[in-house]
Amino acid sequence: MHDAPLDLCGLTAAQLADAARERLPVGHGVARKIYKQVMHSGSFEPEALGLRQTSVEAWRAAFRLQLPRVVRTLSEAAETGMTAKAVLATHDGLEYECVLLPMGRGRQTLCVSSQVGCKMGCQFCETGRMGLLRSLSAAEIVAELLVARYVLGWEFRNVVFMGMGEALDNADALVQVLHVITDPVGLGMSQERITVCTVGRIDGIERLRTLGMKRLNLSISLNAANDTLRSELMPVNRKLPLAQLQAALMRYRPRANFVLGVNYCLLPGKNDTQQHAREVAEFCRPIGRVMVNVIPYNPGSLPITRAATEDEIETFIGWLRDEGLPVRRRITKGQSVMAACGQLGNVELRRKRSLTQSI
Ligand code: SF4
Repeated sequence: MHDAPLDLCGLTAAQLADAARERLPVGHGVARKIYKQVMHSGSFEPEALGLRQTSVEAWRAAFRLQLPRVVRTLSEAAETGMTAKAVLATHDGLEYECVLLPMGRGRQTLCVSSQVGCKMGCQFCETGRMGLLRSLSAAEIVAELLVARYVLGWEFRNVVFMGMGEALDNADALVQVLHVITDPVGLGMSQERITVCTVGRIDGIERLRTLGMKRLNLSISLNAANDTLRSELMPVNRKLPLAQLQAALMRYRPRANFVLGVNYCLLPGKNDTQQHAREVAEFCRPIGRVMVNVIPYNPGSLPITRAATEDEIETFIGWLRDEGLPVRRRITKGQSVMAACGQLGNVELRRKRSLTQSI
């Protein structure tokens, strides 16, 4: 006898087949069809598969599809397309967010949350100020993709775990999500279209390394390459300093042509001198191929500095290139809808904060 229904979107096709065999006296033969229905249309309607009423009832008692409620959506036109943010509500009433980012040439990336809030406390980040309310389950994270695709009608090719929360602080769920969304019977995303972003949870990087997903992308949020400044900006650095992070990244080379993403939020007056650029290069050199993404800071509701000017951004990028680093400037998208990097989370969510822990 099983009590709570199992969340369908937290499972791979094989896991659903096993669970159906275990939980259902009859009707488990349609598990693969049910799985396709869920993942290809975002709905769970066993009656549509011509099952007997008893089987339909058994399926409904043993399994459920719980998609988050869309609380509101906001969008903003940019040169490269439309940036959109959706505020979603979990079944227990907590709000979290996902964002559709235009990447140019009609391609779009979905930025998903892995937690409601975050306990990492990065100084420049709105979400960090909320503290952690709770981690999302694998099913809740996959449900973000289903809602985005089938409820909101967003078309995205890539997924990046860079929304609210530190994905590797919720590593069990993240690993399960990676298995689910790459399952060819379901969403069938290819690994190269998925990027995990981390502040530098070394245990999590190690876990990804042993996962054997060789084409998965990884990016780190660096923001400073000397321990004093990084510890000030990102408390995680006090326990996991740069030398340890660098060593973990040197071990993490899943394939010969792997390029590590290095995200650098440019904070005028804090991390934008030529010396800072040199330190970034020194940090990156032993790691192998990297791509530095310079992200101009978006002052949020409690800014720690101002936005950089065009000149400052170009000068800093020039210094990085002089050091031999490949650099991309991330266009700041969605500022007016608070959908830009470090801007997920809001005052109302912060009020609901119930738990802030340090790691
Ligand atoms: S930048 Fe990422 S890890 Fe840091 S507080 Fe914000 S959400 Fe958390």
